[in-house]
Formats: sequence, C-alpha cells, structure tokens
Amino acid sequence: MKLGIDIGGTKTAAVALADSGELSDQLRMPTGFGAEAVVETALRTVERMAELAGLGASSFSSIGIGIPGAVDNATGRVAHAVNLGLEGLDLGPRLADRLGVEVRVENDVKAAALGAHHLLAESESDFADADADADAAAAADASDVPPSEAATGRSMAYLNLGTGLAAGIVQGGRLLRGGHGVAGEIGHIPIDPAGELCGCGQRGCLETVASGSAIARMWPSQAELPARELFDLAEVGVADAVAVRERFLEGVAAAVRLLVLTTDVDDVVIGGGLAALGEPLLDGTRRILNGWAADSAFLASLGLAKRVRVIPLGFPAAAVGAALVGVAQWQKS
Ligand SMILES: [Zn+2]
Repeated sequence: MKLGIDIGGTKTAAVALADSGELSDQLRMPTGFGAEAVVETALRTVERMAELAGLGASSFSSIGIGIPGAVDNATGRVAHAVNLGLEGLDLGPRLADRLGVEVRVENDVKAAALGAHHLLAESESDFADADADADAAAAADASDVPPSEAATGRSMAYLNLGTGLAAGIVQGGRLLRGGHGVAGEIGHIPIDPAGELCGCGQRGCLETVASGSAIARMWPSQAELPARELFDLAEVGVADAVAVRERFLEGVAAAVRLLVLTTDVDDVVIGGGLAALGEPLLDGTRRILNGWAADSAFLASLGLAKRVRVIPLGFPAAAVGAALVGVAQWQKS
C-alpha cells in the first residue's frame, strides 16, 4: 500500500493506493500554517491513514508528499512554500526520522501530473465523453491527430489552473523536471507586452490572463465562486462577462498550444481549482482552438482541440501522484 499526501494551502488530502493501482482509503483535514504545524499535519495524516488501512504507520511501502512550492525532490527539502509559511524545511527527512519510512516530496503540480497520467492509464473510460465531444468538435479540422501510443505510454501535460498557472509534463511514464525543476513553469511566459504586471516582475505573463488570480482581477466579485459566476453570466450573454470569459479562454487555449508545440504531448489535461468549471471550460477552450485552426492549416494539422481534456471532478490528482512519487522508479529521470 502506497500513501500519497497532498498538502494544500488550506486542506490536506491523502489517499492510499493499492499495488493494483486502485485507490482505497481517502482522507481530508485542515492544513496547519508554518513548519511545525505542517510537519504535525503530515504526521497526523499518516497516523489516521494507517488506522483506516489497519496498518502500522511504518507499514506503508512508500510515502510521498505533494506541496505547493519550490521543492528539491532529491533531498525532500522545501525551499519555499509561501502559502504554508515554509522557508527551508527538510520535510522529507524530518518525516522519515519520525516514521521510519522514506518520504519523498514533490511539487504539487508535478505530483498532480503523475496522478492525472495514472488516471488516463487506469480508467480511459472516465475521459470517454470528452473524447466523443472532441470528435464532433474536431470534425471541421483539416486533418486528424496521428494515432496515440497505448494509454499507458501516452505523453501528457497537466495544465494546472489554480490561483496561478503551471504545468507538469509526463513523457515515457516519467515527470519531465529539467535541470533545475523549472520545466513546465509556463505561467510566466509573457504573451502580451502591454499586459498586466505579474508578481514575477514581467508584464503580461500567461498567468495574468488564465488563472484564478487573473479572474479575480478581471472579474471582481463577491460571489463564492467568481469563475462560475463569470461563466454563468457569459452564458446568458452579459457583454462584460463574455469579454472577460473570452480573454480567459484565449489564455487557456494559448497554454494548450504552447504545451503541444513545445512537447507534442498526446493529451493536455486541465486540472486545478478552475477545472471544476467542467464542460463550459472544455467546450470554450476547444471553441477557441478550433477558431484558430480554421485560420491556420498548420494549427489545424495539430488537432489541438482533440488533445484537451478536463480532469473529472473530485479526482484527487495530487494525492494520487504523491503516492506514485513515493515509488523509486519515478525518481530516476
Ligand atoms: Zn509572471
């Protein structure tokens, strides 16, 4: 039994993954703030999951953790995780000392990419409807996408639309990390020289258009779910909402195009908080991509719209991926 823990800014989610690849027990609890509280949250989660599985805490075959921040996956050290109040925490080693099991730590978006890839390989049918829609949507495309490898060998990009925007890339069943863990940080690719100033110091980054923080800025709202409100109002034709929604969707489509042009992945799976928008997000992104394809035989030949999917609601991608991060074979890339 592998244990995966996703330590988020407010909530921590955990799953146990059987050797067969099936999810068994799941758990959610609030995350503490600051180094000691985060370590305690992780320890309590391991204890609770061990109880649920009827095991001792040291009986998990591996433990992996996904965390939002800059992580050295080789040492298990978290350099910074601003939302959690962490700076230079040896999270992996500290947990390993207490638990007597090796604990791997990975950036949460990279972990979620592995989780989404696992889901694609395990349960292709969960995505079937999306495919049927894509066939219809892509009917106008000049040519088709070349046949993919079997689901298990598929290359995939996970496009995380949360407060920010980032991607994780899985090729040959492994995470693409690059030399310094930066691979996939596409949220900070500028797409508009006249755009908003980004927190990174550049102007017009993808993240300033296609992210939760971008929606919060472009669509100030008291609604509990501003993105949902935006899409609902755009759906009924409120002009301001349509304009903001289209700007956002063009940013998402630009991220998909960028990922395919740089990595030629078979699938781009959209996840993160905004993936809860579901079909309207998928349909809107495909509509923009199909519009571009109508004007460009080159883009049409890439079959971009067919490659996009949205992760099923409620699938704990980062926790599942964290369970896989705990397994040594993922670490060799
Ligand atoms: Zn930026």
